[in-house]
Amino acid sequence: MRAELIDGKAIAAAVRGDVARDVDALRERGVVPGLAVVLVGDDIASATYVGAKEKASREAGMAGGTIRLPADATQADLLALVEQLNGDVSVHGILVQMPLPKHIDPDTVIRHIRPDKDVDGFHPENVGKLLIGHTDGFVSCTPAGVVEMLLRSGVDTRGAEVVVVGRSNIVGKPMAALLVQARAGGDATVTICHSRTKDLASHTRRADILIVAAGRAEMITGDMIKPGAVVIDVGMNSVPDATRARGRRLCGDVHFASAVEVASRITPVPGGVGPMTIAMLLRNTVRAAERTLNAR
Ligand code: NAP
Repeated sequence: MRAELIDGKAIAAAVRGDVARDVDALRERGVVPGLAVVLVGDDIASATYVGAKEKASREAGMAGGTIRLPADATQADLLALVEQLNGDVSVHGILVQMPLPKHIDPDTVIRHIRPDKDVDGFHPENVGKLLIGHTDGFVSCTPAGVVEMLLRSGVDTRGAEVVVVGRSNIVGKPMAALLVQARAGGDATVTICHSRTKDLASHTRRADILIVAAGRAEMITGDMIKPGAVVIDVGMNSVPDATRARGRRLCGDVHFASAVEVASRITPVPGGVGPMTIAMLLRNTVRAAERTLNAR
């Protein structure tokens, strides 16, 4: 079997097209969705992610932009900025790019963001809403993007055995919480694996849908995958590669060459889950703006 690719770029483009139409509709009603992205310090990877988010939000017709604070900004400085954005009616979504410098506590910052502007879906109120199945919160963009991909690819999660490798608060746990909900894109039987899981392969081999978010380059090989499974690779790892001009290449947590021979469908890295994350951020921002209109 040679798996069919799930094209994250194309699916993300479709979501972004829908978002752009929603932005136009909001504009006609006098609201321009605004996304404020906050970047503290000068980490190169973070600056790249932030640049991509800003570009995508502009392309969708949104307002806002990136606010940069120096690496030595204090936690109080950052909290004051968040407070200011919380009170700014032109800002519907606030995203503070992680990781933050070590002297700033990320949880304190996340708790300061107004939950109805927390388009990253990290605030405990939004995490709680996800868990109890309320749909008026925001869901973390990467897992939301995975569910959207599955839905738009016609993958039926209902009754499926899903194994999620990774239990982080931003990917693994919300991923499992989404898949277990009693609605479209959910209704799955979910197993969560992590670094303490015994005999990982015995779990992954049971999965009709295998979702890997472990941050370990190419750790899931073809022999760990059930023939015909759908494989979603969330991992993004930069590994040395002498054949590339930059001396490095990007790869996932799944060993693509062996997995593609076993799975029925698989996401590539890059071009799989990555583009979906930004698309869902835009969608969350539009939702935030729509809610302010409905609350008027
Ligand atoms: P993380 O916070 O480091 O969490 C990794 C999880 O994987 C942890 O729960 C860890 O278990 C588990 N794990 C690590 N090694 C394992 C092993 N050998 N066997 C089983 N489980 C193992 O990472 P994250 O933030 O969730 O991100 C995961 C990956 O997704 C990274 O490559 C990241 O770059 C990528 N990512 C991509 C996007 C995107 O847009 N495509 C977005 C976010 C993240 P313990 O809890 O026991 O330590």
